[in-house]
Amino acid sequence: MSTWIIASSSASISAIVEAAGPEANLLIVGDETLASQLSNTPVARIVHVPLLQLPELYAPTVGQWLKEQGADTILAADFASERALATAATVALNGAWISSASAWSASERSASVSVAGMALETVKAQGPVGLVLPSSDIPCGSSTDVETVSLQASEGVEVVETQPAVSSSSDLSRSERVIGVGRGIAQEKDLEMINKLAKTIDAKVGATRPLAEGHGWFDSYIGLTGQPVTAELYMAIGVSGQIHHTGGVRESRIIVAINEDPQAPIFQEADYGIIGDLYEVVPAIQAAL
Ligand SMILES: Cc1cc2nc3c(=O)[nH]c(=O)nc-3n(C[C@H](O)[C@H](O)[C@H](O)COP(=O)(O)OP(=O)(O)OC[C@H]3O[C@@H](n4cnc5c(N)ncnc54)[C@H](O)[C@@H]3O)c2cc1C
Repeated sequence: MSTWIIASSSASISAIVEAAGPEANLLIVGDETLASQLSNTPVARIVHVPLLQLPELYAPTVGQWLKEQGADTILAADFASERALATAATVALNGAWISSASAWSASERSASVSVAGMALETVKAQGPVGLVLPSSDIPCGSSTDVETVSLQASEGVEVVETQPAVSSSSDLSRSERVIGVGRGIAQEKDLEMINKLAKTIDAKVGATRPLAEGHGWFDSYIGLTGQPVTAELYMAIGVSGQIHHTGGVRESRIIVAINEDPQAPIFQEADYGIIGDLYEVVPAIQAAL
């Protein structure tokens, strides 16, 4: 029985590698760049499946291959491709899928699972198991030879056209820097000021639910029922910080809040808080950068 970490779209797996332990193995279902970024990962075995198709199309054969390797634990970072591959592998192993895990203990074979951001449950695997975990930076350490395995992509769908990606709020969950705006923004045209700041600090912009579902200024929103944000920097501007919102952002490394109300709950989550009118604070930050 063995543990396999699947990496497909991101090299940010150091925390997962650490949790999995040195006996774990790494399966890279990705391009040459990803394989070379991860070639120093301190694991027992590294196998690279070169891609000729979308990563998701390798899900059935990756699952079958991992079964043949005797895998009983599948770990991956919480990104779309990894999620597709890890769930398929878990199904192939006839295992249990754990959603919303925030940590994994290899020795206990147990996971910490967030319950709506309000509590953490510990669940123990009784058999084969698969889960996705928050990502973190590129690992470095001793090098392991990278083996190459060719697997067949599923023929269920075919890539018929490729176009340059259009940035959208769906990028938020994998962005390093995110600005979240709330009802402190009075009018849609004021988002220009926020977009300008976002461009300067290379951040993506998202919003609270009222700005998406109420005003319709965004097609999705950040939070527990919206998109989670696990960024290096999350900047909440004119956001009150209700649990529905903060429960989805509190895994971010640094949270900065700008709010004119000193009692706003967001300040309880923030590493840095600026009490003031965002219409003065944001231009002041912009001018200082
Ligand atoms: C079942 C359910 C699920 C939900 N899920 C989500 C979710 O996933 N994500 C989400 O975001 N919400 C969610 N909500 C809504 C959530 O409860 C809050 O209502 C929402 O997050 C509040 O959005 P807000 O902070 O933009 O607005 P408000 O709560 O109105 O806060 C606006 C803030 O802006 C500040 N402000 C105003 N003007 C200025 C200014 N000029 N300068 C500085 N600060 C200013 C105010 O002091 C205030 O704190 C959910 C609600 C329910 C019932």
